[in-house]
Amino acid sequence: MPVYEYYCADCHGVFELVRSVAAAAEAQPCPVCDAESQRLMPTSFHAFTLRDGVPRRIPDRGKYWHYGEEVDSPISQAVPMGEHPELLYERYGPPALPTVEEREAHEAQVLERMEYEAEQVGRGLAPTQDLRGASEARAFEQRVRETAPRAKLARRRAPNASMTPRTRSGKHEPSP
Ligand SMILES: [Zn+2]
Repeated sequence: MPVYEYYCADCHGVFELVRSVAAAAEAQPCPVCDAESQRLMPTSFHAFTLRDGVPRRIPDRGKYWHYGEEVDSPISQAVPMGEHPELLYERYGPPALPTVEEREAHEAQVLERMEYEAEQVGRGLAPTQDLRGASEARAFEQRVRETAPRAKLARRRAPNASMTPRTRSGKHEPSP
């Protein structure tokens, strides 16, 4: 049986229920306040990022909802209408998560540099500066820091995917 969405006008909650197609149109009791709630058409209610004083998702996990997708925060920067930065990392967010290969290349580069420096010092010589290499290494470390919250978010989201239909699961997940 399909999952339908209902809106409680009394407590401004949006909740989901599994109902038969035949029963879907009937009003359903709100799980919070038991008021009769009307079915929400898929496109009718997700025009904004909602939470305070406006429809919230029941069960309430303290998250915000944007076009039916769970997000951690309301929009706090200028983005095109209808878009949310958390759901558009590829355009607004930090750079792509480093791949395993990139991490290995970075580690190899750092190691190589350390070996070179140790070798030079061992010979009583001052190591030649490698400004480009150092800058690349810093940029990579910065990228790891910037993408860490996103990696965490992706890990947190995945287990809940089945609880939130219409999340278009997978679409916004960064590639591993
Ligand atoms: Zn209610």
